[in-house]
Amino acid sequence: MIVFDHVSKVYPNGTVGLDDVCLRIDDGEFVAIIGRSGAGKSTLLRAVNRMHQITSGTLMVNGTDVTGLSGKRLRQFRRGIGMVFQSFNLVTRTSVIKNVLAACVPDMPFWRVLLGAFRKEDKIKALESLDKVGILDKAYMRADQLSGGQQQRVALARAIVIKPDVLLMDEPLSNLDAKLRLEMRQAIRKIQREVGITTVYVTHDQEEAMSISDTIAVMNAGKIQHIGTPRDIYQRPANTFVATFIGRTNILDARMEQGTLVFPTGERFTRDSWRTIPDGPVKVSVRPEEFVVHHADEKAGGLSAVLEDSVYLGLNTHYYLKLTGGASVELIQESAIDEKLEPGSAVTLTLKEEKINIFSEDGTKNYLRV
Ligand code: ADP
Repeated sequence: MIVFDHVSKVYPNGTVGLDDVCLRIDDGEFVAIIGRSGAGKSTLLRAVNRMHQITSGTLMVNGTDVTGLSGKRLRQFRRGIGMVFQSFNLVTRTSVIKNVLAACVPDMPFWRVLLGAFRKEDKIKALESLDKVGILDKAYMRADQLSGGQQQRVALARAIVIKPDVLLMDEPLSNLDAKLRLEMRQAIRKIQREVGITTVYVTHDQEEAMSISDTIAVMNAGKIQHIGTPRDIYQRPANTFVATFIGRTNILDARMEQGTLVFPTGERFTRDSWRTIPDGPVKVSVRPEEFVVHHADEKAGGLSAVLEDSVYLGLNTHYYLKLTGGASVELIQESAIDEKLEPGSAVTLTLKEEKINIFSEDGTKNYLRV
């Protein structure tokens, strides 16, 4: 288990890398850390294997307080942690199995590995590990003769061959093309489940994070903004930052009046579960698929808008509209066979009320999170 308890990291030049981070990662859990560049993702990862020291707070990894480690104990601790980076760091002119074997015998100079001075049981471990990642048949090929995806599998085999307590992955798929990334996502998830290893996975790709992890931690400016399941983060984001960062959304101004949401142009929407929301100004997040579009003459009582543009993408059509109040919104609907909406059409928008989110005016609190 990994526990960050009010952890902060300030770099010597004063830059805040982590700001009061609290995060608990259970044994066997797969957590994706997601955020823009500079959000603090790598700083968090590097704190776990003590590549740097945190400034304050406590960080426990499997019962060990990592801040207190030094010398031999620190080296031993690091050996219990598998790492996979964006660059595969393979010794390219050497066989795949020797690349993996070198990780089994970290104290042995690499030239001795090349000479074959390793134990039979280490060789068995290396072959087992290559089998787990699905490239046993490539064991005796030179690493540089493999494809990008296969090289990534070798990097993974090398990380898990030591049977680490924790696996840290920093943007491991960024160097692969789109198709391979999809394939490797599935492979990593499957291997992680089989091995049951606690995994922290840094990415800036939200779809990758959603598809691969049990839990996502969204970071911004050194702080964790939201920790939750992919579904929780998408459906009930903790604040407007998370709502706009994960997926797409429209943020609109409105007021709450005794369970009724009132838009500046006067349209009203009521729902029982909104009665607990305090009266006053709010921010409303409506994802593009949470609007329903109607021809203006078909439906009264929704938000009036004019269609500015639409893009047909096969399964869905994206609509860009301007509300009567002036706000621009984006909407996605499943494409209809007989599309009749033309730019300039007057339409009415209703809301999928159970799905939308209502935040405090400053965007920091989602009133619909229980
Ligand atoms: P991410 O991985 O999300 O892109 P980082 O953890 O690398 O973000 O960086 C978080 C913040 O810390 C950024 O502002 C970055 O510029 C800063 N930072 C990272 N490493 C150092 C360092 N060695 N010295 C000073 N500032 C750093």
